[in-house]
Amino acid sequence: MLTDYHLHLRPDEADTPPERYFTAENVERYREAAAAVGVEELGVSEHVYRFRQALELWDHPFWREQASDDLDAYCEFVRGAGLKLGIECDFVPGAEDRTANLLEGRDFDYVVGSVHFLGEAAVDHEGWDVWEGDGDADEVWRRYFEAVAECVRSGLFDVLAHPDLVKVWGSGRPQPRRDPRFFYEPAVEAIAASGIAVEVSTAGLRKPVAELYPSPAFAEMCVEAGARFALSSDAHLPEQVGFEYERAVEFLEALGVREICVFAGRERRLEPLGERVGENR
Ligand SMILES: [Zn+2]
Ligand SMILES: [Zn+2]
Repeated sequence: MLTDYHLHLRPDEADTPPERYFTAENVERYREAAAAVGVEELGVSEHVYRFRQALELWDHPFWREQASDDLDAYCEFVRGAGLKLGIECDFVPGAEDRTANLLEGRDFDYVVGSVHFLGEAAVDHEGWDVWEGDGDADEVWRRYFEAVAECVRSGLFDVLAHPDLVKVWGSGRPQPRRDPRFFYEPAVEAIAASGIAVEVSTAGLRKPVAELYPSPAFAEMCVEAGARFALSSDAHLPEQVGFEYERAVEFLEALGVREICVFAGRERRLEPLGERVGENR
């Protein structure tokens, strides 16, 4: 079995109204792309901040600018299209109860938990760049993985998205002086305690860092801690479905991981890890 659960039906850019992307034709393009590479399970996980209801969680200027869609209309569309229903939900410290209410009020198959922001600034967003000013790398990495640990411990999420997103810019931003494993430690401890599935995402291969999320060292620590894995591309276009999955499958096999997580109704089961088919892209 191969899954692609962390999918977006449209780019993150402005002027991507749901009427244009949440259509049967667009879903068909994703389905065809999935079939071509042997991905059997497809689920959509739109960013929570694209929905008006997200403003109940956080009143950030970027969210205010983005939050125009209706969450229930989205759920209805994805269900009607026969895809697994997910959402990529940012962990907002202090908004745990409101986040739980928002999530529990809908029949998601799974919830992908993300950390993009540290305070008001983001690790992966040029407009809100955490690295502006005195971005001390050790301090940014420490705060990032502490936030991931908190996100995981909240128990709100089924899958931890792009676990080491902080590396997204690669050499384009300062690098920590300490061994990264020092920073991973609290996050991995939280993963072990919570049982959350760790996402192996090929999205990092499309970013300046040009690596899978997470790094081999992070993944090894997760394996040692008994963690389970979920597999995704974080596609924003049909042609990104199952992107570079042969790399992800090889990565998991090298770690001795033979099963991946499959979700329905926020319950998970394990299925044998499949093989990617089709030509390289
Ligand atoms: Zn994300
Ligand atoms: Zn995403």
